Amino acid sequence: MTYGLLRIFRTPFWLLAVLVVVLTTLPVQARSAAGHEASFIERTDRYAFYSNFWINLHHFLFQQAQRKDGEPIDGGRLLSRAEFAEINGAIDWYRDKLAQRSLLMDPYLYKVKRVLTGIEETELPTADAIDADHLAQLEAAASVYRTHYWTRHDRQNREIVAWHRDRIRALEHDVLDRISSLAQEPWPDEHIRVDLTWDANWAGAYCTVEPIHAVLTSRPGGPKNTWPPGGWLELLFHEPSHALIDPDSSTVGEILRETAEQLGLDGADQLWHAVLFLFSGTAVQEALGEEGVSHELLMVSESIFSRYQPAVNDGFAAYMAGKDTLHSAARETLEKLSAARQASP
Ligand SMILES: [Zn+2]
Repeated sequence: MTYGLLRIFRTPFWLLAVLVVVLTTLPVQARSAAGHEASFIERTDRYAFYSNFWINLHHFLFQQAQRKDGEPIDGGRLLSRAEFAEINGAIDWYRDKLAQRSLLMDPYLYKVKRVLTGIEETELPTADAIDADHLAQLEAAASVYRTHYWTRHDRQNREIVAWHRDRIRALEHDVLDRISSLAQEPWPDEHIRVDLTWDANWAGAYCTVEPIHAVLTSRPGGPKNTWPPGGWLELLFHEPSHALIDPDSSTVGEILRETAEQLGLDGADQLWHAVLFLFSGTAVQEALGEEGVSHELLMVSESIFSRYQPAVNDGFAAYMAGKDTLHSAARETLEKLSAARQASP
C-alpha cells in the first residue's frame, strides 16, 4: 500500500490528469465489467444479491405511476416544490408510457432491466439501449431520488439480506435441491441473481430466466404487509423456480397440459403456477420445520390460486411424500378439479 502511494506521488500531475480523463470517458460497459460493483451486496453458494440504484429508481417510478387516484406520492410531503415537480414529471411519464405494461412480459421492460442491471449509480445508461425520452426521465428523477429515497431503500435492501443471511446459507442447498427434485428439472449452473428493490411489482417479486434474474421487494411484510414471517424467504426460492416450472417446456407444465388434454379439461391454464407455489412453499416449510420454525405457505396466507388449492393439495399429497409419480399426481389433481367443477358449475 505504501509503495503504491509513493508511486502516485512521484507520477507527474499532467499524467494523473490524463489518466482521470481516460478513465472517466471509458465506455460504461468496460468500466462496469472491470471494477468492483458498488451495487453488489453479497454472494452465497447459490445466490448473488444486489442493491442497484437505477433498478431501484426504475421500479420506484413504475410503482408510483400505478398508485390509485388521489393516493399521494410516497414521501412527497418531504420534497420542495421544485423537487416534487421533477419527480412527479417522471412519474407522469411512466404512467403514460409504461405503467400499463408488464414488468415480466414486456420485451422493452425486459431490456431495460437487463441494461440497468449492468450500470452503477455513478454511471449513466446509454441512449442506444434505452429510449431517449425514457433516459431523460430517469436522469431527471435521479437527483431527487438520490437525495430523498435511495439511502433508505438501499439500507433496507441490504438489511433484509443481512437478516436472512444465516438462514439462506443454512437452507439454500436443501430447499433448491428439493424443488429441483419435485420439478424433475436441474438448476442451471449459475448463481441466481437477485436485485432487491423497495418496490418490485404488484406481487412483490418477479423473475426472468436465461439467465435467472429475480427482482424482489425488500419490504419484510411484502407489498401489502401481510406475508407470514417466512414469506420473503419463500419468495426468494419461489421466483427462480420459474426457470424449472413453466406452462410450456418444463416437465411439470408438459405433464399437466397433456393430462388436461386427455381428460378434455379446459381452464386449468394456471395450474402449473399453483404447483410451483406448492413445491417452493413446501420445500421452505420442510426446511424451516427441521429448525423448529413453523411456516404457512404464501399460497394459503395470501389466498393465491384458491380455486386450485383443494385439488392440488389432495392430488399432490402422495407425490410430495415420495409415494406417487408426477403423472399420477397430475391426473389425480385434474380429476379432482373436474369433479369439483361438476359439483358446483
Ligand atoms: Zn410465481
